[in-house]
Amino acid sequence: MQYLSTRGQTQPHSFSEAVEAGLAPDGGLFLPESFPDIRSHLNDWQSLTYPQLAAEFFQLFAPDISSEEWHSLTAQAYSKFDSPDVAPLRQLDEKTYVLELFHGPTLAFKDFALQLLGLLYKRLATQSGKTLAVLGATSGDTGSAAIHGCLGQDGINIFILYPNGRVAPLQERQMACTDASNVFAIPIPGTFDDAQALVKETFGDPAFTAAHNLSAVNSINIARVLAQCVYYIWATLRLPENLRDQVEFVVPTGNFGNVLAGFLAHQMGMPAKRFRVATNQNDILHRFFTNGEYRQGDVFPSFAPSMDIQAASNFERFLYLLLNKDSTRVRELIAQMKSGTPVTLPEPRGIFRASRLDDAGIAATIADVWQQYGYIADPHTACGFTDMAPDAISIVLATAHPAKFPEVVQQATGVDPTHPTLEALKLLPLRTHPLPATVDSIKTFIAEHS
Ligand SMILES: *Cc1c(COP(=O)(O)O)cnc(C)c1O
Repeated sequence: MQYLSTRGQTQPHSFSEAVEAGLAPDGGLFLPESFPDIRSHLNDWQSLTYPQLAAEFFQLFAPDISSEEWHSLTAQAYSKFDSPDVAPLRQLDEKTYVLELFHGPTLAFKDFALQLLGLLYKRLATQSGKTLAVLGATSGDTGSAAIHGCLGQDGINIFILYPNGRVAPLQERQMACTDASNVFAIPIPGTFDDAQALVKETFGDPAFTAAHNLSAVNSINIARVLAQCVYYIWATLRLPENLRDQVEFVVPTGNFGNVLAGFLAHQMGMPAKRFRVATNQNDILHRFFTNGEYRQGDVFPSFAPSMDIQAASNFERFLYLLLNKDSTRVRELIAQMKSGTPVTLPEPRGIFRASRLDDAGIAATIADVWQQYGYIADPHTACGFTDMAPDAISIVLATAHPAKFPEVVQQATGVDPTHPTLEALKLLPLRTHPLPATVDSIKTFIAEHS
């Protein structure tokens, strides 16, 4: 199995090469050259545990890693989840389920991908005998999940930049209270965009990047998308066979990574009726799926901050498939989008719809879900609990634990959500490495600590 770039100007890569590169050298995103048909496996997969299922799935995409090794990687990656099911599917009523994706170490769904990616980085480091420096910028969830994927792993140091004072206090604690000597949480003056720009500039120096084996952690690594396919298949297999093609997966969406994974699993033959793209008030994807227009606007901070995005980075993969792998057309459209020109795209096939909730809607929905089901949804998950399909079984993906967003949840329900992991964090000393917002100070720091 080879991996091709959406922009069509990169040599085919193996799985391990595509994971190591992250972004393709032509600026595009990697996708497998073809999708295996998983329908014949579903019966056998039904009795597997979550880590076993993940190992079987990954073998189809990465035969360059042995079956035995995959089983050991996935067993380790999902060993820190606090539910025996890893991704428990909970039924709320006859037609409504929640797939809880917040049982990992940082209590958000990004752990599914980043716990595994940390181990794949470690494997690369071991094989090459080098020490990797993993560098990224975060507005909260990605950075903490990446840190928890890499912490304590031999051969990896991780450096995460974030805007000082602009990430949620608990998210900062998740990054800065690990007590691991290979983790560097770096607050920077300015905004998330400033932190992101510093990371880009650092990667813009090829000599420095090569000298320190710099690797990017961001939302576009193909291993992340594939790791996320697994829980869709897992959820499907928990339902009786005659219901599986009745499911609308409801996916709180920002960068389009999570919902793209569901779409890819469906392309491989996983039954589903539809996918709903659930956005907050930053609704570029809602607009696209309702009228075909993709136009970037300003970002307005919301109660669901991990979905506050302006450009959905994984959207390019979807575009490539939507345009029948015409990478020339992808390049043209991406250039148009970057210049701020609104583009109109071909109507996606009928398996997507979209919904949108503003902050008032999020608060009201958290209250409704609590009253109706006695269930507490976090503000991201709440975006899914609107506009329920009359003609389908809904599986709402719960992307974060409510205790990560205690104020909004407390206001809406009167319940103060807690989690032992977060309570423990509140008592630990914060260890940060503040730096000025200059690329030289970042480089010097990395050089001194790698
Ligand atoms: C990252 C994140 C999302 C959005 O996921 P995408 O893959 O970017 O669409 C939703 N909810 C939570 C809690 C997240 O951390």
